[in-house]
Amino acid sequence: MTALPGERPCLTDLAVDGYDVLLDLEGARRFHPASVRRWVLARGVRDVDAMTDLPKAFRAALADAWDVRRTRLALASDSDDGTTKLLLELRDGQTIESVLIPEGDRLTLCVSTQVGCGVRCAFCASGLLGVVRDLTSGEIVEQFLEARALAAERGRPLTNLVLMGGGEPLNNFAHVRTALEALIHADGAAFGARRITVSTIGIPKKIDRLEELGKQVNLAISLHAPNEALRGRLIPGLDRVPLDDVLAAAGRYFRRTGREITFEYAVLKGVNDSVECAEELARRLKGVRGKVNLIPWNPVADLPFDRPDDAAVDAMVRTLEARGVRTTVRRSRGRDIDAACGQLRRRFPTGDAVRERDARR
Ligand code: SAH
Repeated sequence: MTALPGERPCLTDLAVDGYDVLLDLEGARRFHPASVRRWVLARGVRDVDAMTDLPKAFRAALADAWDVRRTRLALASDSDDGTTKLLLELRDGQTIESVLIPEGDRLTLCVSTQVGCGVRCAFCASGLLGVVRDLTSGEIVEQFLEARALAAERGRPLTNLVLMGGGEPLNNFAHVRTALEALIHADGAAFGARRITVSTIGIPKKIDRLEELGKQVNLAISLHAPNEALRGRLIPGLDRVPLDDVLAAAGRYFRRTGREITFEYAVLKGVNDSVECAEELARRLKGVRGKVNLIPWNPVADLPFDRPDDAAVDAMVRTLEARGVRTTVRRSRGRDIDAACGQLRRRFPTGDAVRERDARR
């Protein structure tokens, strides 16, 4: 087992314009910070020795004071359907999940933004134990760096990034912003903003601040219900926010960015899967530029819901489309490796849990 790094500052936690703090190190020259940043974000090296264009003395000073990474890949497991699930161990032993999802020409990476989640959607595995803590920006960036390296090794580059893993990104706004800047900036990982989607439960004030993340980032809003009463039951941890306020914020985001909004809707059998729900949803979405993505519920052990019948989902699609709402259905992936929404972390909540399993093998 590789030892986890101690509590030292970490390069991946730096803002893309914050590398100049390295000028304080002994032997630093003016161009060294930019060079280090390139090694960390563009090249994705894991240790200082790999930064071969830097003088030995500066490398020694850097290695003395700074860690390059703060997470460790604990597990990478491939599913029969091509999905790869990554479990990362954080410095404090907690774990988070990222998932690589190939689809046609695309390879999408889904990353987490918090350990656990404080929103507690009734049907979701991530919120079961509440929020443990926010991820640092480096812990978000490193999910990308790990997955990008793995994808490159396999000869298939990442094409899309979604912040749809564990956690509510807008409840960890500052770190999410710093991470996205590092990923998007030409001097950072140079990943196109248009290929990034932030998925949120829909907090109007914070949606208005999303512009700070870079104008072209896509927005997905989790609705799950066409009215407040049902939404409140499914999302008890959300302070009662009127649906109209959420939709108004979505409209403002579209007008400012020109990016079409995706409305996510987890479909739960007998709860929100009726034609009436679809009709009401179409009425609520009238005049809002966006599309609906239905997500048939991925079963989570111990939760009192069922997967909807295909016929019910099809009827919802027909009802929405007939009323002019573009609708897609998300095929669930990776179920044989616990990839469905937060379930690998549930099995291995800490790095120790992974090691115990390995020891038993
Ligand atoms: N906090 C963000 C990201 C959550 S995960 C948000 O709420 O948008 C992305 C989507 O998957 C959300 O719409 C979430 O509600 C949904 N989801 C979570 N668990 C699910 C499950 N077991 N089955 C189907 N969809 C699920």
